[in-house]
Amino acid sequence: MDSRAKIEITVPGIAASQGIAYGQIFVYVQSDVEVPSYEVAQEKRIDEVARFDRALIATRQQISKIKHEVEKNIGPEEAAIFDAHLMVLEDEALIGETIREFEATGRNIETCFQRVSSRYVQAFSEIDDAYLRERAGDLRDVAQRVLNNLLGQVETALNRLADQRVVVATDISPSASASLDRSAALGLVLDSGSKTSHAVIVARSMKIPCVVGVRNLTSRVANGDWAIVDGYDGVVIVNPSESTLFRYGKIQEQKKSFEARLLEANRQPAITQDGVEVTLMANIERAEEVANVRTYFAQGIGLYRTEFLFLNSARMPTEQEQFLDYKSVAEAMAPLPVVIRTLDLGGDKPMTGKTDLFPKENNPFMGFRAIRFCLEHQDIFKEQLRAILRASAFGKVKIMYPMISGVEELARANAVLAECREELKARGVAFDPAMEVGTMIEIPSAAATADLLAEQCAFFSIGTNDLIQYLLAIDRVNDRIAHLYEPTHPAIIRTLRSVVDEAHRRGLPVSVCGEMAGDPVFAPLLLGLGVDILSMSPGWVPQVKYLVRAMKMADARALAAEALRLSSPREIYARCDAFYRARMRID
Ligand code: PEP
Ligand code: MG
Repeated sequence: MDSRAKIEITVPGIAASQGIAYGQIFVYVQSDVEVPSYEVAQEKRIDEVARFDRALIATRQQISKIKHEVEKNIGPEEAAIFDAHLMVLEDEALIGETIREFEATGRNIETCFQRVSSRYVQAFSEIDDAYLRERAGDLRDVAQRVLNNLLGQVETALNRLADQRVVVATDISPSASASLDRSAALGLVLDSGSKTSHAVIVARSMKIPCVVGVRNLTSRVANGDWAIVDGYDGVVIVNPSESTLFRYGKIQEQKKSFEARLLEANRQPAITQDGVEVTLMANIERAEEVANVRTYFAQGIGLYRTEFLFLNSARMPTEQEQFLDYKSVAEAMAPLPVVIRTLDLGGDKPMTGKTDLFPKENNPFMGFRAIRFCLEHQDIFKEQLRAILRASAFGKVKIMYPMISGVEELARANAVLAECREELKARGVAFDPAMEVGTMIEIPSAAATADLLAEQCAFFSIGTNDLIQYLLAIDRVNDRIAHLYEPTHPAIIRTLRSVVDEAHRRGLPVSVCGEMAGDPVFAPLLLGLGVDILSMSPGWVPQVKYLVRAMKMADARALAAEALRLSSPREIYARCDAFYRARMRID
C-alpha cells in the first residue's frame, strides 16, 4: 500500500538499538488469531470442505519443509518433533469431527475446526500423563497453522518472514528475538520493553534498529502500513509523508558517512589522548557472533551469555555439544580471552516448554534464576562446567558466575567447579589448570561484600543491567517505569566506585559488561571511576573507541569525581552527555 495515501503519525518511544529502518510493517501476533464466524450457504458447502483440504495440504507441506530444515541444520532428534505435528494432520478423529461439526452447524470451516481442536487441546492438557500432556502443545501449534492457512494469514514465525519487514509486536521473548531473520527483519518495534530486556539486547547485537515502549502501537497499525524506525531518537513514524522520507534520507546519509569514519578509526588502538590504553571487549549470545567480534576489533569476549544455547533448543544441550560450541569460540578468539558465563536461565529467560524446571513465578527477576538454578540442578551445572573446562585447553578461557549474592554462594559454586576439575583429571581430559574464575557483581549484596568476594575469585565483571534494577528497585523490562531506570543515580555511581576500589585494593581487574559499557555517554564515566575493561555488543566498539581516542583519561577522572559530588541523576547525566558531545563534536 502506498504510504502517501495515509496520514503520518509519529509515535515516541525508547531508543533501544541504533539505526534507521524503513519498510512495510508486519504485526507479529503471538496469541491466537481471531476467527470470524459465519453461515456457509448450502450451495457453497462442497467448496468449503475443499478449502479445508487445501489448508491441510498446505500445512503438511510447511511442516515437512520445516522438518527438513531442522534435520539439516540442527539434527534428526529435534526434527522428530515435527513427525508428531504431521501425525496431528492425519488424525481421523480431529479431521472427521470437524467435518461432522460443519455438516451439523453449517458454520464456516475455521469456526468448526477451532471448536474441535480446542476441545482436543483441552482434553490433552488435563491428562495425568506428562507425555500426553505435551501433545496438547503440538496440537495447539498445528491447529494454529491450519487456521493461518484457512484465514490466509502470513506465516507468523519471526525466523521465516515472508519478505523484508519492520516487525511490530507487543513484546517478544529473548528466544524469539534470537530467531529473527536478520536479512528480513529491517527493524523491530515493541509496545513494551526496555533497553536492557534480553530480547532487545539480542536485537542490538544483530544491529537491528529498535524502538521500544511505544504503547499500543500494535493496535494502531496494520500489516502493510509503512514505518520508519528511528533507533537513534526513539521514534516510529507510521506512513511517513514524502517530506519526512526525504528528511530521513538525508539523516541516513549523514549517519552512514559518520559510521564509515568510525569504522576507519576503529582500526587504531583504543588509546586516550593522554596515552592510556583502554581494553574494549565484546558481549556475545551465540558462537556465530565471533565473526562480528573480529570485524569490530574487540580485544576479546568479556561476556558470553551461554543461556542462548539452551533457549533455542528443544532440549538441554549435552556436555559434548556445549564443549564443541565453547571450543569453537575459544579457538576463534585465541590468544584473546573469552569469558564464558555459566547459565543465567530464569528471569526473562526461562527455557520454553520446561515448566518442570522453571515453574511460573510471581517475581521472576527475584526468583529461581542463574546460579540459584545451577546450584540446585548440579547435574546441569556440572555438565556446563566440564564443557567450559575442556574448552579451556583450546584458548584463553575464563569462567564467570552470574547473580552471585555473597561469599557462601561463590564458595559453593567454586566447590562444584573443583569437583569437575577432579573428574576431568581422573578421566585424563585436558583443561587449563590456571583458568581464571570471576564473578559478576550485579546484586547489591555482592557489591556490598566485594572485599570478601575478591578473596575468592580472580576478576569482577559488573552487570549494570541487573545492578541498576536491584539497587533502584526498577524492573529492567517494565516500560512504565523505564524513565526511573537511571544509570547516573548517585547510588549507582557510589556503588561502582566502591566495587572498583575494593577490587583494585586486592589486585583484581574490573570490567563492566552491562549495557552502560557500550553507551558512549556513560563509557567515560565508567573509565573515570577506574573500570579496567568495557565489554559491549560488538557493533558498539567503534563508537566507544572513537570516543576513547578523542578524550583524555584525566578528564574522565575529573568527570567521575564531579559525578561523585553531585546529587541529581539528571545533572550527572547532563555532565556525561556534555562530555560525550564535546569529544564527538556533536552540537
Ligand atoms: C547485566 O546484568 O548487566 C548483565 C550483563 O547480565 P544480563 O544482561 O545477561 O542479565
Ligand atoms: Mg545480569
